[in-house]
Amino acid sequence: MKKEKDKQKQKNNLFTILIIILLLVIAVAVISYMFFTIKNKKEEEEKITYTEFLSDIEEGLIESVKMTAGSGTLEVKYIDRENEDDVEKIMIPNSQAFIEFIHEKKAEGIDVHLSVVPSGFLAGLKANLLSIISTTLMVVIVVMVFKMQGLGDKGKVYDGVQNKSKVTFKDVAGLQEEKQEMIEIVDFLKEPKRFLDMGAKIPKGILLCGKPGTGKTLIARAIAGEANVPFISMSGSEFIEMFAGLGASRVRKLFEKAKKLAPCIIFIDEIDAIGSRRTSNSGAESENNQTLNQLLVEMDGFETNDTIIVLAATNRPEMLDKALLRPGRFDRQITIAPPDLNGREEILKIYSKEKKLSSEIDLKSVAEDTAGFTGAELSNILNEAAIIATVNKHEEITMDDLEDAVKKVTVGLQKTSRVISDKDKKLTAYHEAGHAIVSKYLETVEDVKEISIIPRGVAGGYTMYKTNEDKFYISKTEMEEKLISLLGGRAAEKLALDDISTGASNDLEVATKTARDMIVVYGMSDKIGPISLRVDDVRELEFYGTEIEDEVGKEIRSLIETAYARAIQILNANRDKLDAVAQTLIKKETITQKEFDSFFE
Ligand code: ADP
Ligand code: ZN
Repeated sequence: MKKEKDKQKQKNNLFTILIIILLLVIAVAVISYMFFTIKNKKEEEEKITYTEFLSDIEEGLIESVKMTAGSGTLEVKYIDRENEDDVEKIMIPNSQAFIEFIHEKKAEGIDVHLSVVPSGFLAGLKANLLSIISTTLMVVIVVMVFKMQGLGDKGKVYDGVQNKSKVTFKDVAGLQEEKQEMIEIVDFLKEPKRFLDMGAKIPKGILLCGKPGTGKTLIARAIAGEANVPFISMSGSEFIEMFAGLGASRVRKLFEKAKKLAPCIIFIDEIDAIGSRRTSNSGAESENNQTLNQLLVEMDGFETNDTIIVLAATNRPEMLDKALLRPGRFDRQITIAPPDLNGREEILKIYSKEKKLSSEIDLKSVAEDTAGFTGAELSNILNEAAIIATVNKHEEITMDDLEDAVKKVTVGLQKTSRVISDKDKKLTAYHEAGHAIVSKYLETVEDVKEISIIPRGVAGGYTMYKTNEDKFYISKTEMEEKLISLLGGRAAEKLALDDISTGASNDLEVATKTARDMIVVYGMSDKIGPISLRVDDVRELEFYGTEIEDEVGKEIRSLIETAYARAIQILNANRDKLDAVAQTLIKKETITQKEFDSFFE
């Protein structure tokens, strides 16, 4: 790890030096250019005109004339000048006619010596030497910079063998099943012969699917670490940047390097950047195609006894070109889901090791509040907590700091400085109270954890729910009730203020999307039935006819309307509680779970 960082540092230093040289060269070029133009200007000032020259030649003042062929200029030496180099430069209109003119003059007895020199490569060279040098230097440097950027050799090798601080499965929290599956890969990398003797074929390519930050890179690295083999990594987007046609050659080089280092692991992050479906043959896409084709060729080209395993990561496996997923290529898929409750606690434990935590901290309860969070987000929360603790001048990170960090990451930063009018306060209070009270009367909606009308991020207020269990499936009832609690805010506004506001826009967005998913994705509508209308391409919908589109629209509206009516009904029946909670909110701004529950005792 450290070595790799040093390398990176060195590379950065060199890069800075190159940039400085580049700037120097540009400066020299600019200065020399200015110098030359000033000099030229001076020369221009001294120039005599063509007519003056003609009269001077008639008067016999001129000793000799030198002409550079094709240049249109003339160097004239006057008889009275002593210095050999003291010449005047004149522009002449047409050199051929001029030569004839001089011959005429000679014939008339005027003594003029004319010499014509071929258009001078040498003369030009002399004048332009400085700019030629600087241009060459610039070209050289630009090429070097591009080389450094890695147009040539882009794969980063993390040598798992020599690296002491290597990543192993111990560093990967949770993901038990995934690790289990990977152990067989580790064994193969360690002792390929055993597997091959048995006649087993080990997959060449494994696709890791999952949201960013779920630890795909981490687990790939851990495999290399466990097996003690080099880890070569590259990101899909690196293959397509900058110049056309380079992607394919980079892929080739990557595999060449891997073959030299085998047994080893190649890790391609964001493979969807190169491996998206091939649709047309235009521009960036055909570049994409070349890169993808090269990748396919390379995957097919090495034998299983090369002991190279290619791991690729993507967030959108459905976007990938089917050719990539054929047998012999990425024929194994492993989905890395966001960690479950235990996984989250473990990850929090790993990242809290380097932080000063107070003993009161209960990581389990933080894990409970962070369902759906990825490993990266969890480590981010601990970092935020450390920042908040520092700002608050605490000795250690307290539970409050940590909870604040969770809120900061989930709902946004608290905006205490924002001035809120009493009218807005009342509106927000009723809106949030509406969510909370409606939820209280629903079976499946989680308990309210905190209600607040202090703005955070873009939200004017928020109602936080407990998330006690990690759910795998969500029932239709749960989804319907979720709609009701989402619409509770708007319903409360309508009842208490007899007006509605823009404050519910996000609720409505989520509700509508939920309703649509219920029908289109999960087939929960009785009218439409258990079919999936989730299609890759809108044209596929034609198959169902326009009738079904109308039907979907009607069903979405009906789901939302039913939910809204139910929210109104609950709030109507509990109007006293709505008023009480809203008034308390206006006074105290934040209500905890305990305080909220006391309204219902
Ligand atoms: P991905 O490649 O899926 O986008 P990374 O592997 O780069 O995610 O992980 C992002 C960050 O989150 C890393 O710092 C990693 O250490 C951390 N992380 C993610 N999942 C885990 C996990 N299960 N255990 C420990 N750390 C994790
Ligand atoms: Zn709301």
